[in-house]
Amino acid sequence: MNQLLGRIFAQRRNNGGTDLEAIESALRVALHQAGAGALSELLQFEAPPQDRRQLPCACGHQARYQELRSRPVLTVVGWAQMNRPWYFCDRCHEGQFPADEALDVKNTYFSPGVRRMQALVGQDAPFDHGREQMKILAGLEVTAKSVERTAEAIGANIAANEQRAIDRAVQLDLPVIVGKPIPILYVQMDGTGVPVVKKETEGRKGKTEGQPAHTREVKLGCVFTQTSWAKEGYAVRDPDSTTYTGAIETAEEFGKRIYLEAWNRGWSRAAKKAVIGDGAEWIWNNADLHFPGAIQIVDLYHARQHLWDLARKLHPNDLTTQKAWIKAHQKRLLDKGKIEKLVLSLRSAPSTNAEVLEKIRTEADYFERNAERMRYPKFRKQHLFVGSGVIEAGCKTVIGSRLKQSGMFWTVCGANSIIALRCSHLNGRFEEYWEARRAA
Ligand SMILES: [Zn+2]
Repeated sequence: MNQLLGRIFAQRRNNGGTDLEAIESALRVALHQAGAGALSELLQFEAPPQDRRQLPCACGHQARYQELRSRPVLTVVGWAQMNRPWYFCDRCHEGQFPADEALDVKNTYFSPGVRRMQALVGQDAPFDHGREQMKILAGLEVTAKSVERTAEAIGANIAANEQRAIDRAVQLDLPVIVGKPIPILYVQMDGTGVPVVKKETEGRKGKTEGQPAHTREVKLGCVFTQTSWAKEGYAVRDPDSTTYTGAIETAEEFGKRIYLEAWNRGWSRAAKKAVIGDGAEWIWNNADLHFPGAIQIVDLYHARQHLWDLARKLHPNDLTTQKAWIKAHQKRLLDKGKIEKLVLSLRSAPSTNAEVLEKIRTEADYFERNAERMRYPKFRKQHLFVGSGVIEAGCKTVIGSRLKQSGMFWTVCGANSIIALRCSHLNGRFEEYWEARRAA
């Protein structure tokens, strides 16, 4: 360090210049080296005393102390060397390093601090981008693969913790979360495809309509609150109140997941509750099952889209007539919540084309089935949201921007790990996770 400072001052004497970037970088390297040296000293463990040279082994036998073994570990100040006792069980031939478990570096070359960085950059951007961030921001050289492995391992751990909480939640009566009453609490759900490697779609039938065969559906849910509304009466979301949860999983599994999230956000103390989604059947099945009594709302813009699809079928290549038809059906019926009239009108639409008739029938069924979820004037009078914009934006920011970049193909396990990690971070729970990990 003194040598380095000497060189810096010599440079200034010689040419009067100070290359700040070169100096700060050199200083960081020097400080890292000094830190890694100090850490290496701290990580020299001693052989256990004679009377403590046995440890219970998982097989039921005893593992015996053998020797001190040395190995490197990458810390936030660079590579350090640790030297710690090694125990060996001569019955099952399993070795043990108790110090590794105590330091949370079991089976990894990366310290908790480095893994936290890798997880953070790995949830945010492609893994090679993360490698670059580690180098520039932290002065640490790691491989893209190690960012991937660590981010996925941490994400898998978060996902496993969540799954345990979900399993507990369905077995027990959940404790009521105490807190301020919540005027309005929303649950929104949606699905979005993520590109996966070939083996993840093999032998799967009934892929989501309109999605290419190489994707699997992520079910994403969000929960947010509303305390007031704008002057004009429009719903306003409480800032920073949105949390997300999701995975590639069955509708049944996802139902339990979103239920727990809503519960943790205060479902039981919300004065008014609303579930918003598009027309997908799994959404309403879950709403009926887990959120009975909630106001159910079909996203108005999806409903309008259904009318537009039908308008194009009924009056192909005739935009003027399409618009007139939309005016009569959307503005006067759908937007006014007059769904019975809309269904009647659709069913009486004249056509001789079998395909068109089939489309009319499907759409009329859709509106009929969802009639109670389309009373938009009634919802608006209560200052409720009538669109699922929050979850649709979530599908883009939480899932799309990280998991749907070109050239990405995920395993279901890898995608679910990154989704869990990303939600944990976006929900502001990443710190909690590391604190719990440290306390464990
Ligand atoms: Zn053993």
